[in-house]
Amino acid sequence: MKPAAESPSGERRAALAPWPLPDGLDTPAVVVDLPTMERNIRRMVTALAERGVDLRPHAKTHKCVRIARRQLDAGAAGITTATIGEAEVFADVGVRDIFIAYPIWPSPPKARRLAALAERCRLRVGLDSAAAAPLLGEAAGRLEVLIEVDSGEGRTGVPDPGTAVTVADAARRHGLTVVGVFTHGGHSYRSSDAPDGAADDEVRTLLAAAAAMRAAGHDVQVLSSGSTPTAIASARDGVTEERPGTFVFGDRQQVALGAIGPGDVAMVVAATVVSISASPDRFIIDAGAKALAKDSPPTVDGFGALPAYPHATIVRTYDHHGIVEVGDGARPALGDVLAVVPNHACPVVNLADELVIVEAGKVVDRWPVDARARNR
Ligand code: PLP
Repeated sequence: MKPAAESPSGERRAALAPWPLPDGLDTPAVVVDLPTMERNIRRMVTALAERGVDLRPHAKTHKCVRIARRQLDAGAAGITTATIGEAEVFADVGVRDIFIAYPIWPSPPKARRLAALAERCRLRVGLDSAAAAPLLGEAAGRLEVLIEVDSGEGRTGVPDPGTAVTVADAARRHGLTVVGVFTHGGHSYRSSDAPDGAADDEVRTLLAAAAAMRAAGHDVQVLSSGSTPTAIASARDGVTEERPGTFVFGDRQQVALGAIGPGDVAMVVAATVVSISASPDRFIIDAGAKALAKDSPPTVDGFGALPAYPHATIVRTYDHHGIVEVGDGARPALGDVLAVVPNHACPVVNLADELVIVEAGKVVDRWPVDARARNR
């Protein structure tokens, strides 16, 4: 057995709630428990409504029209996407308020698509450089933009309020409408102690950029923050909207961070035990990197968790094989179908055509992953 204390990541192996699967599944399959997902949506909507902050969920997590509809029906103010392609899918079905929270470089094909999209919905896009402003302005002058500011993740976003003003000024000169600022406190994922500090960083950074931009005459209406681990803690002090995505399903990483409870995981990958090797402490499942993705965050070990085998570790993945070490000799039988809680839900969905929707252990529907692979 591999006790929690010995786990290299120091992961809190909170016992994940049992995840009963329906009989007869063809695997690997992405399975979503509808009541748990709906509870996750309600909880986030309610928590943010209590704080007077809009929810604009990131749809890259689910890429699914039926889930976006449920989020909007529950009270979300609009949706967030990472790509124009995702936004096109949701605009096609009538979503009318979309923020592409990404500093798009408006190359000619993208500029054309943005212009067409802006005709069909209220479209907002991210901007973090003065250099992109003339191209964006030429593509679609009516476009609303939010200046991205880096609150500590060190990925995209301008580094300080002065640069936010420079970029906003360039946007205005080129006919764009600057409506606000946004940030993503992705450094909340670095350790289980990180989310609170990252939420503070998001709030401080947004307020400082907004103040500088207002002083320069910009009408900053939107202060948009968010990641699942920080969404509730940063919903304060003038932040107007939150963009969590992963909360809708939850995943192993969110449990390790304490962002969701061990009973709130709404999505698993169902996998079949296909081989039991000579070694008594190993077995092989038919979910490898092409079903579980390759994410290996610092807060967890291996490539997914098996609620039925809490001490097992998926030590390695090939395209179509997951190598599981149990250590204590307890292992399933050939042909058993197991639930695997993925480390990170978002890339897993992008690997599947459909979500198998279950309720009380029975399949009730199958929903297409409408924006699958719409990565540009
Ligand atoms: N906003 C942006 C810009 C993001 O990149 C992400 C996720 O990567 C989110 C919001 C959603 O955050 P999370 O996946 O933690 O829910």
